[in-house]
Amino acid sequence: MNPHVAHLPCMEVFSIQDGELTLQGVPVTQLAESAGQTPFFAYDRAMIDHRVAALRATLPPEIHLHYAIKANPMPELVQHLARMVDGLDVASAGELALALETETAPADISIAGPGKQDHELARALESGVTINLESPGELERLAELANRHGRTPSVAIRINPDFTLKTSGMQMGGGPKQFGIDTEQAPAVLHRIGELSFDFRGFQIFAGSQNLNTDALITAQNGIFELFNRLADEAPAPVTLLNMGGGLGIPYFANDRPLDLDRYGEHLHRHVAACRQRFPNVQIVLELGRYLVGEAGVYVVRVIDRKVSRGQVFLVTDGGMHHHLAASGNLGQTIRRDYPIALATAMDHPAAEDVSVVGPLCTPLDVLGSRVPLPYAKPGDLIVVFQSGAYGLSASPTYFLNHPKAAELLV
Ligand SMILES: *Cc1c(COP(=O)(O)O)cnc(C)c1O
Repeated sequence: MNPHVAHLPCMEVFSIQDGELTLQGVPVTQLAESAGQTPFFAYDRAMIDHRVAALRATLPPEIHLHYAIKANPMPELVQHLARMVDGLDVASAGELALALETETAPADISIAGPGKQDHELARALESGVTINLESPGELERLAELANRHGRTPSVAIRINPDFTLKTSGMQMGGGPKQFGIDTEQAPAVLHRIGELSFDFRGFQIFAGSQNLNTDALITAQNGIFELFNRLADEAPAPVTLLNMGGGLGIPYFANDRPLDLDRYGEHLHRHVAACRQRFPNVQIVLELGRYLVGEAGVYVVRVIDRKVSRGQVFLVTDGGMHHHLAASGNLGQTIRRDYPIALATAMDHPAAEDVSVVGPLCTPLDVLGSRVPLPYAKPGDLIVVFQSGAYGLSASPTYFLNHPKAAELLV
């Protein structure tokens, strides 16, 4: 099999039939017919379930597993995940509406994100979800709304920790940040929550996203529990919630290795035991996005044209950065590396040539694969981009050049 995809954890769940990539027993060419078009994203329930089961088997049983909807807000997928996990995290009124359409109890839904507008806070207040406060100003606006609506908000404080998660793909805490309340400001905010007699639940401490370094994640765990212990002393009521955020990474590029979940889980067992001893009623939440859905998704595009420019083969496809910005390299701000990519109908063929897989947009940034070794492909063939279940379609500039939207299937 194509060495760029053979090692992927999802290949233990997907299968290959007659050389063709198959999800849940359905070959990709048939999925294209069901979708009624290319390009499309397909998300495999079995891979999601496999990932949830692995987490349940490895993490301490007390851990509450939440899904962060922003990773992939496809409604059917959210419904499926809601049945598999213990809660949902949302970051906007739109996502809140999606979460409230599931069977998840409002007490197991939290809303985070800077700049929550009054209408979003009001909706959160009315529905009884936990509001993760991001600033002292937001607390005061919530106080006014609570007063007006005659309701007591359930709140947690999102903390901008005084440590950073090193080697993280994206840092969400440490230093000056728009996210969360600085550790130093937390005592004053906690005091104010006490004055307001809000239902105080606890803390969210989220350090960073897309981390594949198990050691760094363990160091972050240490920091999170140490900080939680410190902050709990200042709380206006017994703390009942520690939300550790998300951030577990998945392998995208040639040298990436999956993280060591066993070691991560083993370390977490110790922290959870100690924490539950001091706070018997605390609920410890791990709120994952990418790790739950990233590897369950593929993006499938069709070759429209095959051309050779000065010796370089280009496969021009009907999909690209307007559906899958991350796979194209996020607007060229970083050194571009290829997501795992394959010819969907020739998974077991050896590579015949190095090709550039590009999209239809009028920008040189619209690239899905640069000089990737693939079997010979011709117009009409399907190309598949793996690891595409998180931060794909909903995180892409779909209006750019006004091509049709990608379809989405949950299989
Ligand atoms: C994005 C986000 C997550 C999920 O992050 P992943 O890296 O996808 O696991 C969790 N919590 C909050 C508050 C977020 O903003």
